[in-house]
Amino acid sequence: MAEHLKNEPSDLAAYWMPFTANRAFQRRPRMVVSAKGMHYTTSDGRQVIDATSGLYCVNAGHGREEIAAAIKEVAYRLDYAPAFQFGHPQAFELANRLTALAPAGLDHVFFSNSGSEAVDTAMKIALAYHRQRGEGQRTRFIGRERGYHGVGFGGLSVGGVPANRRDFGTLLPGIDHLRCTYDREHQSFAIGEPEWGRELADELEQLVALHGASNIAAVVVEPIAGSTGCLPPPKGYLERLREITKRHGILLIFDEVITAFGRTGYGFASERYGLTPDIIAFAKGVTNGAVPFAGTLVSGDIHAALMTGPEHAPEFFHGYTYSGHPLATAAAMATLDIYRDEALFERASTLEEVFADVMMEMQSMPIVLDIRPIGLMCGIDIEPSARGPGVRGYELLQRAFHDHDLYVRVINDTMIVAPSLIATIDELTDIRDRALGALKSLS
Ligand code: PMP
Repeated sequence: MAEHLKNEPSDLAAYWMPFTANRAFQRRPRMVVSAKGMHYTTSDGRQVIDATSGLYCVNAGHGREEIAAAIKEVAYRLDYAPAFQFGHPQAFELANRLTALAPAGLDHVFFSNSGSEAVDTAMKIALAYHRQRGEGQRTRFIGRERGYHGVGFGGLSVGGVPANRRDFGTLLPGIDHLRCTYDREHQSFAIGEPEWGRELADELEQLVALHGASNIAAVVVEPIAGSTGCLPPPKGYLERLREITKRHGILLIFDEVITAFGRTGYGFASERYGLTPDIIAFAKGVTNGAVPFAGTLVSGDIHAALMTGPEHAPEFFHGYTYSGHPLATAAAMATLDIYRDEALFERASTLEEVFADVMMEMQSMPIVLDIRPIGLMCGIDIEPSARGPGVRGYELLQRAFHDHDLYVRVINDTMIVAPSLIATIDELTDIRDRALGALKSLS
């Protein structure tokens, strides 16, 4: 056995794990020590297939040597560059590449380190933009039920996950939520987008009428709600949101933290839907998960409005010590090279149909209540356990990992499959078979 595999931690109590049932985890810990391609190796030496690209970030597969080499080179040459009032060339080069990949018109990008920071940055840019244009009363935001926008106070406030908000008081004032677009009764086992989009989006008009357009800063949505269950937008929904926001001078912010970098077969899901929001938040796939990194793309109009004021003062009082960190920009450049050279976005597009078919075969299990594939992402709802919502899901995760050598993200009673864009058809069927095996053991 390799030396590092023997190094089990002496005690598990000090590390407080995020979004984890810590006490249960400590009784039955699961550890990974290495990763390659579509697989993790566990500390007890097993190969576990990674059905969720880590946490939707390892879009080019694990252990990419080109990315590791780029990180190593820069770590020796330029370990850190001050993020403020100083620059390093690769950050500018990366900004050029990302804006070239983004929908036309989004030609500036602000760097941060996580999806949460990218969303909170987007919200702060929206507020500053309106204020700069003499509309400082535009402070309200509109999110959506079952939207997930990270854990900063901005993203948490526009997010619509009750459990995430419950313990933290009133959060930001002046936030409303559009209704969730998912409706199992009319949507079960349907591939693609359901039909009822425009009417649902028209609810935005009711909120505009209630508060007055001139008080609303922005609408924040994921084009496809990802981590709360993979909920494809109904037809016409996003288009209608775009029309209504534009008409009222409200900014439209797309949170593409999961959907960017090939997840739907495009650089950004905005492109799939033929839409240009005013702001896009991205993270995860930009570095293939190898270094924490994120960004907020903004339109030329927004940027121009903020590039005002005294020339020798910062135009926007916001930033992070690690914005544009050299290790992150190196990892991102190498990752974008891989996406381009291996045509991975196109590959995702080509795989979409067969992925949907393979996932849909899980209908054979009576406890599977719905399956929603879109792009290379799929939500699979499992009947809640008699012992309460979420219980079976949690157990499923444990068993899937331990007994069936499958890593899959499970939230409440939904499992989310989102494989790397390098997955082969055999690996997709392997994921399905392992998931079915795990479900059978619970039925
Ligand atoms: N937005 C979306 C849509 C996400 O899926 C996530 C993370 N899953 C975030 C924001 C937050 O990203 P992070 O965990 O990097 O802060």
